[in-house]
Amino acid sequence: MKIAVLPGDGIGPEIIAQAVKLLRALAKDGLKLEMEQAPVGGAAYDATGEPLPAATLELARNADAILFGAVGGWQYDQLPRAKRPEQALLGLRKELGLFANLRPAKVFPELVNASSLRPEVVSGMDILILRELTGDVYFGQPRGVRMLANGEREGFDTMRYSESEIRRIAHAGFRAAMKRTNKLCSVDKCNVLETSQLWREVVTEVAREYPEVTLSHMYVDNAAMQLLRDPRQFDVIVTGNLFGVILSDEASMLTGSIGMLPSASLDANNKGLYEPIHGSAPDIAGKNLANPLATILSAAMMLRYSFNLDQAAGRIEAAVARVLASGLRTADIHQPGTERVGTMEMGDAVMAAL
Ligand code: NAD
Repeated sequence: MKIAVLPGDGIGPEIIAQAVKLLRALAKDGLKLEMEQAPVGGAAYDATGEPLPAATLELARNADAILFGAVGGWQYDQLPRAKRPEQALLGLRKELGLFANLRPAKVFPELVNASSLRPEVVSGMDILILRELTGDVYFGQPRGVRMLANGEREGFDTMRYSESEIRRIAHAGFRAAMKRTNKLCSVDKCNVLETSQLWREVVTEVAREYPEVTLSHMYVDNAAMQLLRDPRQFDVIVTGNLFGVILSDEASMLTGSIGMLPSASLDANNKGLYEPIHGSAPDIAGKNLANPLATILSAAMMLRYSFNLDQAAGRIEAAVARVLASGLRTADIHQPGTERVGTMEMGDAVMAAL
């Protein structure tokens, strides 16, 4: 199993180093993991003049999975769009056909007080949001701003999903549900939108191939409300690009800790790019302050979703839970009564627990 390791910028290299440490330990234990590293984002621009050099793209293409840190930094903010670090991520998604974005939002018991909701509402929350990443109103044509006959301007975008696009994200949703508790909620707005009517029809058709999964449907406005009212009713949610970006940000913030949340972007064969949901945090880069747990949990997702190594993934997740239960915290999740540690020490503690 070949892993392309792309640390990127800011805290990227520090947090990636902790995840790589754990993967090396698992490799020593018998997992056949091979890792190769390449520059991406601002670091790659500095080295080669391109945020996604051909060699990095080639490495990612030939790998079975990609472990990605983060990209970006103020020193690159003035570059033309094509040279900016974030183009690397967009380029990888496009070139590798990564259409399914998986964002788990889990509340660890020890961090329940970090949520903006009351502990009794979020305690035990463990949701996976699956967002379609390459279609919808984000990419639909035509789009633009035009002049109307009465002289005022009108902006317009096109919401659009083909049957095959809906089908493949629905399959990804059902597969993800089968790795968890066999519950899938499809979110749409089919009382108003034609696109959503087709979405619901196709998802319902695909459901026939997964009799073990219980499928429900919910309107997006209700889903936004239910996430705040009773998030524990959800397990896996599957939805389109636009509804997904909003609901996944809402759900992730219920956990209250950006440094804890992993993500995956998968293609049709479960090849994936795995990364923490946070950015490159230039304000704390190089200071041994960053929380490496989102990246470590991304590595666990990689083992589960790309390599079907549920047991190894579970070992990493259990190690993280044990370290939190032992009271160790990086600065971002530190609370009175817990012990503050740095990036490296947190990585070492997870390693020891593993
Ligand atoms: P950010 O997520 O980097 O940081 C937001 C805040 O959260 C900062 O205060 C930061 O210190 C803190 N933070 C983030 N990750 C943390 C961690 N692991 N441990 C502890 N604290 C953490 O978002 P931003 O400040 O808006 O953006 C900084 C740069 O990152 C920008 O260049 C932006 O374009 C880029 N960015 C990249 C990605 C990506 O690579 N996927 C995503 C978002 C932002």
